[in-house]
Amino acid sequence: MNPASPTPDTVEYWAGLRRHELLLQCCASCGALQCPPRPGCGACAGATFTWQRAAGLGRLESYTLVQRAVSAAYAVPFMLVLVRLQEGPMIMSTLILPAALMDPRLPQTVAVSVGVPVEVVFEDRSDTLTVPRFQLKVP
Ligand SMILES: [Zn+2]
Repeated sequence: MNPASPTPDTVEYWAGLRRHELLLQCCASCGALQCPPRPGCGACAGATFTWQRAAGLGRLESYTLVQRAVSAAYAVPFMLVLVRLQEGPMIMSTLILPAALMDPRLPQTVAVSVGVPVEVVFEDRSDTLTVPRFQLKVP
């Protein structure tokens, strides 16, 4: 999914992110929700969708701390996460880490673990590109 050249299947998704809205595809045939957008429904292979705004809340399904850069475009360390959105779909993203987690000298007041609640944060990287990231949701 390349935001520089969105396809007909992804253009609305990227436009939603620019408005700071995380959009889910809703299959017109079976009602299944999916994210990120794809040409076909993962449940029934339907090809017609409407869009539904996600609440932006979810829980960590999995995570890993990446400490070795795969390219100069990725500053390390960063935490790659799978988030199960409360609407059901699972999205891959990165977690904005509290400073304390990255510095062992600071008191550890929060912990990253499977199942912790997270919320979306919209990161404007340029005038045309916004990406969804997540942060731990403080109760
Ligand atoms: Zn479907």
